[in-house]
Amino acid sequence: MSKYTIGVDLGGTTISAGLVNEEYKIEYKVGCDTNLPRPSEEIEQSIANLCLQICKDKNLDITKDIQWVGIGTPGSVNTKTGVVEFNANFGYNNWPLQENMEKILGCKVYIENDANAAAYGEYIDGGAKGAQYAVVITLGTGIGSGIIINGKIFSGFNYAGAELGHLVIVKDGRPCMCGRKGCWEKYASSRALAEDTRAAMEQHPENMMWKLVDGDINKVNAKTAFDAMHAGDPLATQLVHTFLEYVACGITSVINIFQPEILCIGGGVSKQGEALLGPIREYVDKEEYARNGDRRTKIVTAKLNNDAGIVGAASLGMQNQ
Ligand SMILES: [Zn+2]
Repeated sequence: MSKYTIGVDLGGTTISAGLVNEEYKIEYKVGCDTNLPRPSEEIEQSIANLCLQICKDKNLDITKDIQWVGIGTPGSVNTKTGVVEFNANFGYNNWPLQENMEKILGCKVYIENDANAAAYGEYIDGGAKGAQYAVVITLGTGIGSGIIINGKIFSGFNYAGAELGHLVIVKDGRPCMCGRKGCWEKYASSRALAEDTRAAMEQHPENMMWKLVDGDINKVNAKTAFDAMHAGDPLATQLVHTFLEYVACGITSVINIFQPEILCIGGGVSKQGEALLGPIREYVDKEEYARNGDRRTKIVTAKLNNDAGIVGAASLGMQNQ
């Protein structure tokens, strides 16, 4: 009996599926466009086609050679009933994804929220590997997050938990789409850094960052300020400094609440490595509640990044073993 599983990362623009071996490595990967808006039956068929394509290309039988298929999807996922209860991006409510996919594929299927699945992937074989208590945050358009407690994904009694991006760090601050003001992701996501960079550049038309983006403000991203800081620009250095203070402020609160063994940071800016981690650790060392203790949370960057969703989804069955 082979030990293969398939992990599916269902995203708003693409669906990726990977064949994962017992060392948690992706051996083969396929994908297609999500093409929203589409009825849920069509999305199910697209997922099934990818799984069947993997099996065909790799000469495997889905009912015999694949232990299970795991799917990470946006939305609130009730892992007991296998129902996506609410998915704003796709416009589906009470979507019985697990049951429908089991019928189509003829094998065991597990489903989980996509951010939770990605966090689980980093716990299984990435930056948080082996830490029974881990928090994974992804600095992207918002702040994605997943919490592992005692080796299992924590999502609260109603499966809507672990939304660390909506921790308020500035009372009456910037309005957030969740309805609150001053949420962490409005200050510490990659998008927030890019927006703050654009605003600063507009106030400083002579600044060197304009050269980095060929005079085109639309080319500004989270890397722009880091690149200019590395080139010695004081305005960019200030922008990055303020951004990292916001990142660290939220991280310190998260550590104070959970005291994870490892806190893992993913997303494009995690490629900055020590330029990102150094200032964050310095801030946390000054403010964390347990800073004088012997056992401290390790802050690291994510290892799997874009593959975390597939590896985590492919490993979901392990939570039930
Ligand atoms: Zn919010």
